[in-house]
Amino acid sequence: MLKQVYLHVAIDDADSHMGGCTTYVTYRLLKDIIREFSEIEIADLPLLVRLNPYVPFKTRGNAATKLILRTCENAVDKLREFIISKVEQYAERRGKASPGIAFLISNSLQVPDGLRRLYYKAVTDVVTFDIVKKICDRYNIETIGGRGIIGAVAALGADFSNDSTYELLIYGDPQIKKSLEVNYELVKLLHELSRPFTFLDVDPEDCTVLLMPAGPDPVIFGIRGESPLHILTFASVLLTALGLDVEGWLLYRTNQGTEIHVEHAAWRPRTYRPVRKIVHIEHCYRTEERHVETTCGDLNLWCYRHLGTMCTEIERDLGAVLDVWGGAKLQDGKYYIYIEGIRKVADRQVRLENPRCPRCGRRLVSSGRDLMKCEKCGLVLPKEKIVHPIVESEHTFSIPKFSEHRHLMKSFERVGVEGLANVLNISVLWIV
Ligand code: ATP
Repeated sequence: MLKQVYLHVAIDDADSHMGGCTTYVTYRLLKDIIREFSEIEIADLPLLVRLNPYVPFKTRGNAATKLILRTCENAVDKLREFIISKVEQYAERRGKASPGIAFLISNSLQVPDGLRRLYYKAVTDVVTFDIVKKICDRYNIETIGGRGIIGAVAALGADFSNDSTYELLIYGDPQIKKSLEVNYELVKLLHELSRPFTFLDVDPEDCTVLLMPAGPDPVIFGIRGESPLHILTFASVLLTALGLDVEGWLLYRTNQGTEIHVEHAAWRPRTYRPVRKIVHIEHCYRTEERHVETTCGDLNLWCYRHLGTMCTEIERDLGAVLDVWGGAKLQDGKYYIYIEGIRKVADRQVRLENPRCPRCGRRLVSSGRDLMKCEKCGLVLPKEKIVHPIVESEHTFSIPKFSEHRHLMKSFERVGVEGLANVLNISVLWIV
């Protein structure tokens, strides 16, 4: 019998601000593979891999894709050639697009540890071509193309073993989005029916629909969740209710909503990296544009006003100790953290007050090191202060409102269902 091997393939940077989408190139490629190579087994759902959200080269959400195909060893070359020609045909050529493809031939579904480490680095740091080249030499990875090679090789190493989610991307003519009106109540109802197995479909604060991304790309809807069954049912009902004619869909397994970039974030700020730090809020003020800027030693924190109530909460945290995370940037010789989320660790700054005299009600005054005295009636008591936190806010955890969530941020809706997607991956109709 002919030896079977796994061909791990990853693609990145096949889109530009003017149109296209790396996920759509992958969708068309997969449909062609299914049509042309009947003997090939698609060994896992395609992966949609979000990398460092703070790299400056990204178009939108810094996404790469990965496929694992199983085929006989002597068919690999033909398959590789086919993939290269199709990506070339479908990738955007306008604007900043610089497509890259990476191939790893292996006897296993798993990838080497060194490649996995590159994935974690690419989620939390800026990766250079040199590092990628070293990894490719060590593991015999073939690459073709431009800057996209960095994201593609990193995506080959994607490790979703701890937590993952799904996103069903529904494709069609981008023109549809211009006139399409999606009823908020309908999407909210579908969300209620599929909760907690779908997330970020609507923003209840603004009463807006979140599953329809704006932009010139062919993604009409993106439905995110933990369970393929719930997502596919949601999509079928939505499309039927809207009477919409679309090109098709593809279900991706993703690292979206897993907060992987924060979990592995550095504590020392460096430009274009996610960072997580414990800070003491010393000063805080609103800029003219209503954003909130705070300082803590030689570090500045910045919270954009459109992130919602987070701004007011940070203002109330003057004096508190916070666990903050976000993206770092060096500006005018100082590091700024652009806040994504905060968790209050402690109300640290307090106001101390002497108690009143239990006999006559006059405020007691200090009398020596350990005593307090009433100047009216002469009562002397052991010293005991009343402690007032300067700010008595109750929140302990705060993240942006739903409509301001970036791809890797974890929404409240996912709390408690982490890891579920890793066991609910049996799916039919994952590509249409
Ligand atoms: P879309 O979300 O619409 O697919 P995008 O935001 O993913 O677009 P890309 O077109 O994929 O943007 O471009 C991202 C570019 O940044 C790619 O060339 C990729 O190789 C590179 N890149 C991604 N992550 C890193 C990283 N951590 N360090 C250096 N380069 C990176």
